[in-house]
Amino acid sequence: MAKKAVRTVITLECTECRERNYTSEKNRRNDPGRLEINKYCPRCRVHRSHRETK
Ligand SMILES: [Zn+2]
Repeated sequence: MAKKAVRTVITLECTECRERNYTSEKNRRNDPGRLEINKYCPRCRVHRSHRETK
């Protein structure tokens, strides 16, 4: 049985300092592009946009 890998592990990095603070999973079918989530960055010590890395 061939199971397609739809769920992909992604890394989220701060758009400001580029620190990689989070890992997540996404559904490639629901989010074909880059994911961007507002999360707390411990280095900037504020909430910032975190973007999916390549
Ligand atoms: Zn940051």
